[in-house]
Amino acid sequence: MNFHILTLFPDMILQGLSTSIIGRACKAGQVMIEAVNIRDFTQNKHKKVDDYPYGGGAGMLMQAQPVYDAYLSVLEKIRTKQRPRVIYLTPQGQVFRQTMAREMAKEQDIILLCGHYEGIDERVLEEIVTDYISVGDYVLTGGELPAMILVDAISRMVPGVLSNEESSERESFEQGLLEYPQYTRPEEWRGKRVPEVLLSGHHKNIESWRMEESLKRTRIRRPDLYKAYLEESKSETGL
Ligand code: SAM
Repeated sequence: MNFHILTLFPDMILQGLSTSIIGRACKAGQVMIEAVNIRDFTQNKHKKVDDYPYGGGAGMLMQAQPVYDAYLSVLEKIRTKQRPRVIYLTPQGQVFRQTMAREMAKEQDIILLCGHYEGIDERVLEEIVTDYISVGDYVLTGGELPAMILVDAISRMVPGVLSNEESSERESFEQGLLEYPQYTRPEEWRGKRVPEVLLSGHHKNIESWRMEESLKRTRIRRPDLYKAYLEESKSETGL
């Protein structure tokens, strides 16, 4: 799977994604991450990529021309017949979820567009963007961290990127619930013992304990998810 990230800060992207599991996936060729510097495509002789917004207001806006030409340079490289998915990271988008990560992992190429300053001239967004995605209801200084979040979450869903031990099957959100609490050695730490059932070796009991804990944790910490889970279960059982 190939990520093409259009940004004014390519080093930030490449440094942030070159270690741990994603770095390993890149080395193994399971994932390719390319950071395209939008500034390299400006026609301005001073390498300027932004200007004042028409109508006034605070801050600067990224101009359409360098963004569009950076996008065309990626299209040239990937040469697909279909129009690739172009995701603009913006607080005005749909909030990113695990289900989206799983679905996007099926794409061959994804272009991620990072804004900066006050954002990007609307006309180029209308021209190239297929999806508007936010990482939450707060405003960041740029789209680079959100792009890295998407690359990380989507790459984990690409077959082979996670080893068996790192498997995502039982993780939070996979079954619409948060994951149960987990423990490792020692059996006792500061007077707190690992729940007996986990030491019992009785797989069926362990499974039902984990399910109960998942339900309890989701109900307390994420009542919105819990409600959706109950509704989904009801519609599945037809009750
Ligand atoms: N003026 C914009 C607004 O009010 O919607 C905010 C611009 S923000 C300061 C600069 C850039 O950071 C945006 O163009 C976007 O790429 C990125 N950004 C900021 N917050 C984000 C979020 N919650 N999710 C995704 N991208 C975000």
